[in-house]
Amino acid sequence: MKSALNAEPGVTESGTIPEVVAALRATYGSGRTRPATWRIEQLRGIERLLDEREGEIARALAEDHGRGAFESWMIDMLAAKLEATYARKRVRRWMRSRPRPLPLHQMPALGWVQYEPLGVVLVIGAWNGPLTVTLGPLVAAVSAGNCAVVKPSELAPASSRLLARLLPEYLDAEAVAVVEGDGHTTQTLLAQGFDHVFFTGGTEIGRKILAGAAPHLTPVTLELGGKSPAIVMRDADLGVTARRIAGTKVVISGQACVAADYVLVERAVRDELVERIVHSLNEFRSGEPDRGLRIVNERQFDRLAGYLASTEATVALGGGTDRAELTIEPTVLVDPSPEDPVMREEIFGPILPVLAVDSLDEAIAFVNARPKPLATYVFTKSARTRRRVLSEISSGGAVVNHLMVHYMAPQLPFGGVGASGMGRYNGKWGFEELSHRKAVLLKPFKPDPRFAYPPYSDRAITLIRRMYRA
Ligand code: NDP
Repeated sequence: MKSALNAEPGVTESGTIPEVVAALRATYGSGRTRPATWRIEQLRGIERLLDEREGEIARALAEDHGRGAFESWMIDMLAAKLEATYARKRVRRWMRSRPRPLPLHQMPALGWVQYEPLGVVLVIGAWNGPLTVTLGPLVAAVSAGNCAVVKPSELAPASSRLLARLLPEYLDAEAVAVVEGDGHTTQTLLAQGFDHVFFTGGTEIGRKILAGAAPHLTPVTLELGGKSPAIVMRDADLGVTARRIAGTKVVISGQACVAADYVLVERAVRDELVERIVHSLNEFRSGEPDRGLRIVNERQFDRLAGYLASTEATVALGGGTDRAELTIEPTVLVDPSPEDPVMREEIFGPILPVLAVDSLDEAIAFVNARPKPLATYVFTKSARTRRRVLSEISSGGAVVNHLMVHYMAPQLPFGGVGASGMGRYNGKWGFEELSHRKAVLLKPFKPDPRFAYPPYSDRAITLIRRMYRA
């Protein structure tokens, strides 16, 4: 099998990347991943892994990200566990063929949609939630009866090593392989030609994944990010709004694809909202010895520190950085210019720009002038405002009066649109994403009227035309 720690890029414990993929293809070809029992066993394996190895996972996340055990459980383990349990309980039902009504001119016949696994799927994870963004898509892959290669992010090395060690222990090691490595490894994998690629990460790398998959016509799911806005109207409960927004900049140091990237607030309540956000952030950090929040690596630290160095916005809170410790204080910036680098790129860190707007129209126009975000958040008590935001702004998902919570609702599809990604997962949506929906039409041999074949008599033509009008 197929766990694989590659000292040399592209070479794993069980052989070269082509050998690993060929072995998975052989497993898939044997048909053993198709029955519901196999799928349920794998899902149970993921649940057991998360339950039994919680301590080890938390230690790996502490090493990679300096995270506390509870935060690791809540952000990285819980969502994957809920997904696996939800899928395990429903996968038999999802797999059933769906009969479809057919038009009269097809009669007599039966029609149905039959779900088919795609084959061997490549799951490319990100560093920010290294468990959830690998195990979540893996739940979808095995629910749909696929074999999979998991390529965790080398930027969270302890988590990557742990996945390489544990996945073969808990899952069918001849059907699920872990290949560790960097961008070069990912491109080598893509060159093998998979039946689907599922990538979580930044937009720029997303483009490279799509390009790498194109020569093989490999379908791709891209879970990207973008600048997700939080629009705050004057009728919102500002205390709750401030707490909820501030929370997204503290949890995993704001390095979450569904965190609020920036806030657009009605001018009349801007100062009160800023004050309350500052208060909440201070409260959240009050028990901590260090005010700063840990950033994943130097590259990301320098990018974020660069935003702080270049901004001309008023700093309402924070602004401090410590390169030796890789920490950045939770920072609130008031009214940066839209041209400010912090407003041009996705932040992905504990920095929150707050911009005043004079109207809902202005807020909607601001968001719509930029690439479509992964999420839009709106805080209001007005049904009219809510309806306008939901219908006039296109984004991957939307939450009214809260943030990020839609990621943990397996009944809802999770994914981006436009620059924030393509495809979706969670619950049945993930099963559908990684299955082929085969259209099947079953006809009896009889009737088989002569008039349906050439040469067509006038009477046959009239009859056939009439039939298709039906
Ligand atoms: P990314 O995850 O976007 O990209 C880094 C990874 O991509 C590394 O493993 C890198 O390998 C690899 N890579 C580089 N070039 C290629 C290539 N040509 N083909 C395949 N893989 C390649 O993270 P970054 O650290 O670059 O983060 C940048 C931005 O990504 C963040 O600001 C954030 O916006 C976003 N992001 C979004 C996430 C989400 O959940 N939606 C998660 C993580 C990041 P190598 O080390 O060899 O260069």
